[in-house]
Amino acid sequence: MKSVKHWINGARADGDARSAELFNPATGEVSGHVALASPADVDAAVAAAAAAFPTWRDTSLVKRVRVLFRYRELMEAHRDELAALISAEHGKVHSDALGEVARGLEVLDFACGIPHLLKGAFSEGVSTRVDSYSMRQPLGVVAGITPFNFPVMVPMWMFPIAIACGNTFVLKPSERDPSASLLMARLWKEAGLPDGVFNVVQGDKAAVDRLLEHPEVRAVSFVGSTPIARYVYETGASHGKRVQALGGAKNHMLVLPDADLHLVADAAVSAGFGSAGERCMAISVVLAVEPIGDELVRKIVERVERLVIGPGDDPRSEMGPLVTRAHRDKVASYLDLGVQEGATLVVDGRDTIVSGGGRAAETPGFWLGPTLLDNVPAGSQTHVDEIFGPVLSVVRVASYDEGLKVINDCEYGNGTTIFTSDGGAARRFQSEVEVGMVGVNVPIPVPMAFYSFGGWKSSLFGDTHVHGTEGVHFYTRGKVVTSRWPDPSHGGVNLGFPTNA
Ligand code: NAD
Repeated sequence: MKSVKHWINGARADGDARSAELFNPATGEVSGHVALASPADVDAAVAAAAAAFPTWRDTSLVKRVRVLFRYRELMEAHRDELAALISAEHGKVHSDALGEVARGLEVLDFACGIPHLLKGAFSEGVSTRVDSYSMRQPLGVVAGITPFNFPVMVPMWMFPIAIACGNTFVLKPSERDPSASLLMARLWKEAGLPDGVFNVVQGDKAAVDRLLEHPEVRAVSFVGSTPIARYVYETGASHGKRVQALGGAKNHMLVLPDADLHLVADAAVSAGFGSAGERCMAISVVLAVEPIGDELVRKIVERVERLVIGPGDDPRSEMGPLVTRAHRDKVASYLDLGVQEGATLVVDGRDTIVSGGGRAAETPGFWLGPTLLDNVPAGSQTHVDEIFGPVLSVVRVASYDEGLKVINDCEYGNGTTIFTSDGGAARRFQSEVEVGMVGVNVPIPVPMAFYSFGGWKSSLFGDTHVHGTEGVHFYTRGKVVTSRWPDPSHGGVNLGFPTNA
């Protein structure tokens, strides 16, 4: 049985006695326990981060970057180990876990360019013999609170840039899959990061609440569900903190009749069922512009029936289990609800055969196979709720305009995509759709690390997206210096407002 603890000031810390069970989602068995931080544990981590800040802030850019490069090498060398830790606690298949590590490493690549990213502007002679220049400085102690679905990638959207900018960091990972955070912490130490610059507190609401009210925490980055994102944003802001809080999603794929339906079916199945649909950029609704609905559903079914469902550590598996029993049950409840609301259950994931097991609904572990609901009524609960599992809904619409309205009426605005051969329609879509990340014939349009990631509406609270230049902006504050080196000609008192001459 593993016992997952905190990481404070460069060492493992046991903290207070509260803990939660960890599970192997493929078997449903308890695999260990994770400590749940008390407010005093959080205070210890923040105190370590605050103590480390002045020295780290004053460490030269070149020295900071050398640590980042060493960390990059170590993370690269431990890719497989990180992926195995993710897969054991989250359930996703090993190849998918490797993909998440790769996308996290891209943010580290970006952060290695911090000397260039932190360059300010300089204007010579803004007034007579007066120069002006700008600089961006770190905030101090910053915190990251992250969800279960990407235990490596989402923390890495945050801490490489925060630390590169000269801040010190406290990570509060999801209590469902906390182990990878400790390996990432150990590797920072091995890379030469001074103790206290990166800390991990494991925990639940008690830890989050203390971070949100702690006077030394200057900024909070949050990724998780919409109700908690809203809570974190409001509570953090009411305590005077800078907050970016990314929430839930319901992502639509709009398919126009001129699209290549083989490509569309491949994309819908990959984006709908990858990571068992537990991705904030998963496609969960296909909007089929008639008359293609029947043919598209047929093509999706052919592909779904060939998917191999099994444990994440079996290389033959393409899709693993869901993260917890409670989540599996909640997701599965939408199958009956969908039918009650008028949808047709075309593929029932409860009947999927799990490799090495039996019917998903009867196999130990948190299993639900890929599920397809057709003719889901627009606006029904099955259509609008974030289900966050392997349930793909097909909503049939009569036109581009009707499809666009369905997307723009949605509470969430994280990701969306259009499949078409018509450049004009795609161009109209990217301009008219009210969503933060848009694909054109690309099923999961996750921006690269050098762009910024974030949705609109209830998918993001705050105005700054994560990573890319917006990440640098979030973790720094600006200063403008106006400078004159005295010269005898400048003597004399003048009470007028300074004007430029
Ligand atoms: P969650 O909101 O339950 O948990 C996220 C974090 O908040 C965890 O660290 C958790 O410990 C903490 N938390 C949970 N309940 C809390 C409470 N009452 N008070 C304070 N803190 C609390 O989310 P999850 O189930 O771990 O992750 C899935 C959700 O995350 C989905 O809604 C998904 O769309 C979203 N997500 C969004 C993005 C994005 O970029 N927008 C990315 C990944 C995941």
